[in-house]
Amino acid sequence: MKKYDENRAFALLDKIGFTRVAGSSEELKAAKILKAECESFGLSAVIEPFEIESAEVEATFEILEPYRKSYTVRGYQCAESTAADGFTADFVYVENALPVDLLNVKGKIVLVNGFLRVPLYRSLMEAGAAAVVTMDGDIHDDLENTDLHQRKLRSALRAFGNAPAVQLRTVDAMEIVNKGASRAKVTVQNKNLTLTSHNVIAEIKGTEHPEQIISFGAHYDSVEFSKGVYDNGAGSVINMEAARWFAQHPPKRTVKFCWYGSEEIGLEGSKAFVRDHKDELKDHVFMINVDVGAPILGYNTAAVTGEESLVHYTDYMLKINGLSAVTRQSIYSSDSIPFADNGIPAINFSRDGAKGAAYIHNRFDTMEFLSAEALGKTLEIVLTYADTLINAAVFPVEKKIPDNIKEDIDKYLYKKELAEAEAK
Ligand SMILES: [Zn+2]
Repeated sequence: MKKYDENRAFALLDKIGFTRVAGSSEELKAAKILKAECESFGLSAVIEPFEIESAEVEATFEILEPYRKSYTVRGYQCAESTAADGFTADFVYVENALPVDLLNVKGKIVLVNGFLRVPLYRSLMEAGAAAVVTMDGDIHDDLENTDLHQRKLRSALRAFGNAPAVQLRTVDAMEIVNKGASRAKVTVQNKNLTLTSHNVIAEIKGTEHPEQIISFGAHYDSVEFSKGVYDNGAGSVINMEAARWFAQHPPKRTVKFCWYGSEEIGLEGSKAFVRDHKDELKDHVFMINVDVGAPILGYNTAAVTGEESLVHYTDYMLKINGLSAVTRQSIYSSDSIPFADNGIPAINFSRDGAKGAAYIHNRFDTMEFLSAEALGKTLEIVLTYADTLINAAVFPVEKKIPDNIKEDIDKYLYKKELAEAEAK
């Protein structure tokens, strides 16, 4: 018996397929659509607010020597402001910021490859860099048809120091380096503010083991410029079909459906959930997360954030049912992380695009490369898997995170580095 309707799910995906940035009114609008959808089949849902840090920021960047030219940049949110008339200093390109690249950067404006990662940013701060420039995009960017994205100097970065930071296009970075830029001026005017983001939560009580909770997670926010249908409207509507199925077929165990806001700015929605539902976490035995789906050209994956035996079970179970997914044991950069960090094992389902056949985190994440049929492939997997596990006679998954996974989570959350920063 088919437990879902991929066309209905695809129609809902189209309905929430507008840009839904963390803490924006559009994000809240999508939350209300998800809540109303739950209520349309008799499942009551609540919208739970939580605070996120944000900022309004303006920035400029100019090369002063050996030529003069201004470049379009986006300032990092929450980065230190410069004086109103800017900060002028020598400019140096430090590539990946290896120790050799950082011998002589004190007080300078530095350009690095890519975006800011904790170890890289930490080395820049320890070397005394005064301002940071990162790059975004591609040297083939068509300026009219691509966007320069804003980033945030997240608290995990600011733990190592705060400096003015801007992002420019990779194609501009190439010109700057190729022309031997040696002196620059950067202006960042940052105004921090607190915004409210929202999780949508619904629960169906278990008929036999109501005290055991399995939660479904999917983030419904997007990044700026992106319609966020592949990432992750798709997971949101897959879980909506699961909610509909279990609302109509009461499960043995309690199932909770969580549509998370603000995942894209650092898993803020799921972090808020585990913080605000601390007392209930003892009852959570498993988490099912769905993040990215529906590309026509692609393949399904199942990442088990839990014991090795669950990987084998998952692999066998999918094969027995004729379901195709690449199965592995690993963490997954999504809302299952805060759960696993609290000792709750998880599985992460996705349908990833084939190379060149799907776009993420930019204006090209649109319905164009998605289909209801492809969405249905992940729906089949999620519902077959979830229905079997949630209605198991005995819940077979041990509530335990193996050491290798624990280590990966700690690394992902930069626990060691943050503890060192705190100790200073
Ligand atoms: Zn995502």
